[in-house]
Amino acid sequence: MTLTTRFAPSPTGYLHVGGARTALYSWLYAKKNGGEFVLRIEDTDLERSTQESVDAILEGMNWLGLDWTQGPFYQTKRFDRYKEVIQQLLDAGHAYRCYCTPEEVDQMREEQKVRGEKPRYNGLWRDRTDHPEDKPFVIRFKNPLEGTVVIEDLIKGRIEISNTELDDLIIARSDGTPTYNLTVVVDDWDMKMTHVIRGDDHINNTPRQMNILAALGASIPQYAHVPMILGDDGKRLSKRHGAVSVMQYRDEGYLPEALLNYLVRLGWSHGDEEIFSKEQMLELFDLSGCNRAPSAFNTEKLQWLNQHYMRSLPAEYVAEHLAWHMQQAGLNTEHGPALTDVIAIQADRVKTLKEMAQISEYFYADFDALDEKAAKKHLRPVAQQPLEVVRDKLAALTDWTVEAIQAAIHGTAEELEVGMGKVGMPLRVAVTGGGNSPSLDVTLVLIEKDKVVERINRAIAFIEARAAE
Ligand code: GLU
Repeated sequence: MTLTTRFAPSPTGYLHVGGARTALYSWLYAKKNGGEFVLRIEDTDLERSTQESVDAILEGMNWLGLDWTQGPFYQTKRFDRYKEVIQQLLDAGHAYRCYCTPEEVDQMREEQKVRGEKPRYNGLWRDRTDHPEDKPFVIRFKNPLEGTVVIEDLIKGRIEISNTELDDLIIARSDGTPTYNLTVVVDDWDMKMTHVIRGDDHINNTPRQMNILAALGASIPQYAHVPMILGDDGKRLSKRHGAVSVMQYRDEGYLPEALLNYLVRLGWSHGDEEIFSKEQMLELFDLSGCNRAPSAFNTEKLQWLNQHYMRSLPAEYVAEHLAWHMQQAGLNTEHGPALTDVIAIQADRVKTLKEMAQISEYFYADFDALDEKAAKKHLRPVAQQPLEVVRDKLAALTDWTVEAIQAAIHGTAEELEVGMGKVGMPLRVAVTGGGNSPSLDVTLVLIEKDKVVERINRAIAFIEARAAE
């Protein structure tokens, strides 16, 4: 049997990091074993499911490069099949009609609580045949009354649940629609799932699903329940902690490689290694390396990984991602230096591509205003002469190279008998608009000579105007 895993999101929001990690583990496990990876959209909750969420999930999966070999399958397209299986369970005596109203079930639970018992459906209609006509009913699964269900969880180890703990769950509502546990079972069966890797918030459903699968004579997959992700305050990760949507990480300037590396380590380890390319993950990932305890999200580590990948991935590849951020920042990068050259000098200075786009604006656009603080400090009357001299030296250059630019700046400082900072800082503010940039020679060389001269002239005019005030 081909090893098969799935990712089965409910499209009621964006793809969040918890879902993405489950998807990654399922994807890795299938792919490394030459298996199938099914994408299944669990959209039976018609009120909460939206096409927008489906699109957001697909976009997130695509951005992360988690490709599926089958699907996407939509549960809403499979209602006929669910009905068929429900009928099959009824016919075989594994399910029954329950005519209790919700109020009656509530009352049953209240009475149990008063008696100090665990509130549950008491099986009132389990064996009854006196079915009323024209009364609405739900269909319940006849859970075995005795014995235990054993989950040999591939992450959590052996878990035993006594059948006396489980009541007869509803598999079809009074309007005939199937419930979550039924649709998952039918799909895992039909889609030949061998391994179900999912969040441990589903662990209570697992024994119920296993019992239904057994009643259907289906083979039972192996389960691996991944512990949840916590925020830095130890509470379950949520919007309160900042970004939780995968696409929000893209928007904030993270590379998919960094997020994937971060997510694989968030709940799995291999020795004390931190850096894993996709190839290494595929080689090394195993469920046995997954933690049993929840893991806490750590944005600093993600930033550290992002920096690592911005520096170490091929610049051409990083440039494709940076181009998107430049576009978001409203910058036209068709004219100006190659993005790969910008990356070469900026990658060490930032944690994200969004920041890189922000601090690289001066390569592609003339700035409207100078940074007020930097201008005040460095564009004072004393800077005028150094700017004029360096402008003339730069304007006279015939080859616009790092060496020639460096010589012009040094020459100016020597000629005026001032320190390098007295030339460099005014020049930096003049050309980049602010007081922070990589070394001037490598920065200026990426900007056209005429532009540099024009900006120096603007700065000189600025100094003169200020002096006249
Ligand atoms: N649709 C469920 C969810 O998004 C997952 C079900 C499963 O993995 O079995 O939580």
